[in-house]
Amino acid sequence: MHYFDYNATAPIEPAAREVWLEVVDTLWGNPSGLSRFSARAHHRLTACRQTWAQAFGVEPSRVVFLGGATDANNAVFAHLAEQANSDARVLLSAIEHPSVHAAATRYFRDRTERIPVDRSGRIEVDWLEQRLQVGTIAFVAVMAANNETGVLQPVDQVSALCAHYMVKFFCDAAQWVGKCPISALPAADYISFSGHKFGGPHGIGGLILGPTEQAFRGRVGGGQENGHQAGTEDLAGIAGMTAALEAQPPEGWSPAGRDAFVGTLAGPEFSILGATVDRLPNTVSLFLPRHPATRWISRLDRHGWIVSKGSACSSGKAAGSHVLGAMGLSRSDSDRVLRISGGPTTSVDDWCALRDAIDEVLRDLDAEPESDKLTTVIDPA
Ligand code: PMP
Repeated sequence: MHYFDYNATAPIEPAAREVWLEVVDTLWGNPSGLSRFSARAHHRLTACRQTWAQAFGVEPSRVVFLGGATDANNAVFAHLAEQANSDARVLLSAIEHPSVHAAATRYFRDRTERIPVDRSGRIEVDWLEQRLQVGTIAFVAVMAANNETGVLQPVDQVSALCAHYMVKFFCDAAQWVGKCPISALPAADYISFSGHKFGGPHGIGGLILGPTEQAFRGRVGGGQENGHQAGTEDLAGIAGMTAALEAQPPEGWSPAGRDAFVGTLAGPEFSILGATVDRLPNTVSLFLPRHPATRWISRLDRHGWIVSKGSACSSGKAAGSHVLGAMGLSRSDSDRVLRISGGPTTSVDDWCALRDAIDEVLRDLDAEPESDKLTTVIDPA
């Protein structure tokens, strides 16, 4: 099998698996207990927290471990809804992950507004600034990198604007952390991340709190995570995720294979969404010739190539991609976009072999009945 769906989930890093098993077998004491056995678990938890604090350049008390990015995103909105005035409004980019959109709607209902994106899939910073000038905004949510297109968002500008207008900034960095240098992320009041996107176990992630956020409470109950999140920590998950982070190249994943692949896609039939802007080093959002993405996916799958359509969290839905829709693609055009996402060990040769497989599948699909073919070509930015 050739796996090109890392943005959905990455295979577990061998080092992360080893650490995970070691902790499950030997460090299963409750980190909050008083015995020496618990103290060993607590010591390991502290070491993991220290690693994440160093990576983000923050105090360890700013690191809160949670059950993945969906959990972290929901916790941020629940907390902000509790803290904000009842007429406070929130701005979210139109391309946020469903966990951000749904949590915003759950807690702020019709007091949410969408920041538009341009055709390349980047948010419109001028629109954001104008809206912030008007006031009544409690906080802004803009992701670091989009999970479907890989397009990096201008989060440094967003961070500066939020600081200027004294509005809180929440950044979902689930697709950034592990793939790109964490040190390049700007200051934010809340940054969420997810272990399984870079080789950690599933169901573990975290939140980095800004220096002024003292009152954050996720789940309430015991006083774990410096009082920020109750519940006995999943130490094996946390240690595995930390080992996965440590196994990543500090300069981030290499774009060499992705670039070699893109370089071979000459001609108007194939278009890359977001081709003119910075993107994650591993991601290609590819508009395909003639046939719907679902057929490409099943054909490629039969040949052993795993790719996807949009995000794993929404690809089963009938509504189409809200990300591609926000970029101006019609529903039928967005049904022709494949998400191809490699990993840190995907070689240039693997990417080039995928290119050959695409040619082969195109020949197969073209041989199928004429009525099934689509004819438009698009010119996405
Ligand atoms: N945010 C983004 C940008 C994501 O890509 C994902 C995973 N698809 C999530 C949040 C949710 O992460 P998790 O699977 O850890 O809940």
